[in-house]
Amino acid sequence: MIERGAAMKALVYYGPKQITLEQYDMPELKQGEALIRIEAVGICGSELEGYLGHSSVRTPPLVMGHEFCGGIERIAPDVTGVQTGDKGIVNPLISCGACDRCAAGRPNICRNRQIIGIHRPGAFAEYAAVPAANIYRVPNELDSDLASLAEPLAVCIHAVKLGLRPFEDAVIYGAGPIGLLTLQAARQMGAGRILVVDRQQERLAFARQLGAETALPEQAEEAFDSLLSARGVDTIIDCVGVQATREQAIQLVNPGGSIVIVGLGQDQSTLSMNHVVRREISLIGSYTYTNADFEQAVYLLTNGCISKESWSTTCSLDEAPDAFAALTDGTAKFSKIIINPNGGRPTHG
Ligand SMILES: [Zn+2]
Ligand SMILES: [Zn+2]
Repeated sequence: MIERGAAMKALVYYGPKQITLEQYDMPELKQGEALIRIEAVGICGSELEGYLGHSSVRTPPLVMGHEFCGGIERIAPDVTGVQTGDKGIVNPLISCGACDRCAAGRPNICRNRQIIGIHRPGAFAEYAAVPAANIYRVPNELDSDLASLAEPLAVCIHAVKLGLRPFEDAVIYGAGPIGLLTLQAARQMGAGRILVVDRQQERLAFARQLGAETALPEQAEEAFDSLLSARGVDTIIDCVGVQATREQAIQLVNPGGSIVIVGLGQDQSTLSMNHVVRREISLIGSYTYTNADFEQAVYLLTNGCISKESWSTTCSLDEAPDAFAALTDGTAKFSKIIINPNGGRPTHG
């Protein structure tokens, strides 16, 4: 058992490029909560933006980390449905369940939304306290690193559903973790040909391994003509979200088509809006996921439908500050780094 008032190791974000590993108070359990011993927690692109000081929602000092799974170490007395010893993936989105958006089945845009790792301490630590209702139980044999992809995969499932229809060709901007998971989600949903556009050849190689056609941005127009059907493309999913990808998507999508915008690369863009009007192009923002999207992500991972090979790797909590630096200065060989805070040590007895 863990002593009350005990300490654990956590990665604390203090400001631009300042993230340190330190002793941190063990989370206290409130009503309805469970204590998770973190086995795997992915570093999200949004947290890299946070690390660089570009995130308006992440206020230091903060323990980030919202893509995680682990073992249930302890539960509050009122918790039902999960037990100590269960393995679970945590949905970090805490919606109020009472507002009009929640009532409309859209908890992702809940008016009182909170996210673990943004509004309360996250999982870049040995332990985290989470609402038990946000835990999805998974088999103990499920690979923890793979399981930690549920959150970003849910983001991608949501985006795919907002635009794409089965059998249709699709274009995805970005071959980072979100782009590669969007590609896999689109394939699972029965998309036709998929073209992935990215600036980095190494990342495009990952996309090709997962069955996509690929192109550099300057080749995108030609690739549209040569690699996709002559009907053009009705849906483009932008997992980058910068001026260049937004404008190119607007220029390339079919009249009447949709651009689903997932990437939060830049806040401001100057776009050909008259072209958007004259062609009735829909610009659709896509943010996080519904409970159904999350459940479907867990299902795909549990059933071996998603691959993280070749494009992801793991590190320890001690190595994590260097991982943040490598991912932001472009020296990381892998596009996804998953932290193993408890490094495979046996569970506390
Ligand atoms: Zn994320
Ligand atoms: Zn709500």
